[in-house]
Amino acid sequence: MKRLEVLGWWFNEEAPTGLPRPHLLVGAWAADERAAVAAYLRAGKELVRFPEPSFCRFACGETEMGHADLTDGRYVWPEGLVHYIERHDVQLPEQFVTHALAHGAAMPAFAMPKAKFGLYDTAPWLAWGRTRGACLDLDGWEIPTLDVLDRIAADLGAVPHEAILACRGATREVLLAVGGGALEVHQLRAGGHAPQRFAGWHEWPVAGVGAKRSSDAPKPPDRPGKGATMDAFFAQLRKKHGLDEPTV
Ligand SMILES: [Zn+2]
Repeated sequence: MKRLEVLGWWFNEEAPTGLPRPHLLVGAWAADERAAVAAYLRAGKELVRFPEPSFCRFACGETEMGHADLTDGRYVWPEGLVHYIERHDVQLPEQFVTHALAHGAAMPAFAMPKAKFGLYDTAPWLAWGRTRGACLDLDGWEIPTLDVLDRIAADLGAVPHEAILACRGATREVLLAVGGGALEVHQLRAGGHAPQRFAGWHEWPVAGVGAKRSSDAPKPPDRPGKGATMDAFFAQLRKKHGLDEPTV
């Protein structure tokens, strides 16, 4: 089966995964290229339709983000992707941009694939997002199933929280939404570390790019502190010794 390469799948603050955050992909577009890519995205053919409309991750107030996934027979993207490009200067993979510019709005003819399990290939999108430093470091974190949620809630006892967002079995850590967009990591075992607090997802470490933080905040100290991952620590160490990582 020929698979479709996914574009425009975004991080969800309430169900955190390693998908890219569009906020970390903002960059400059050449006006003519943006217009051509937007026209190409709009020319996509509807593959599937969802009952719930999509929403803008920038919380700009846009509500018309569409219900459908569009395809050109090679890529698949949500109808609302064009909004991110036009309104928020979000960048897309260079390979796709080249492909779109080569075709313009005259999309080549293709046989519409059947929407079935395994049709969507997210790997290139995820890999690109990580290369661009747009994915959060959520390795080992999982979205808990309902029965796991019950057990965590029992273990948390009186710890105040609005929602349990994720858990990491290996370290017995849980990630909580604690109101106002803030997050806390609690370790559910005797002698566990003190709760780590993040003002929001923008403070969460970014995957794969060393000490970069979601907000581009100042780098963590030269020893793992609260919220600094080991990756970030080693990246910092490499920097200190003049072994700069290539910038992307
Ligand atoms: Zn928006």
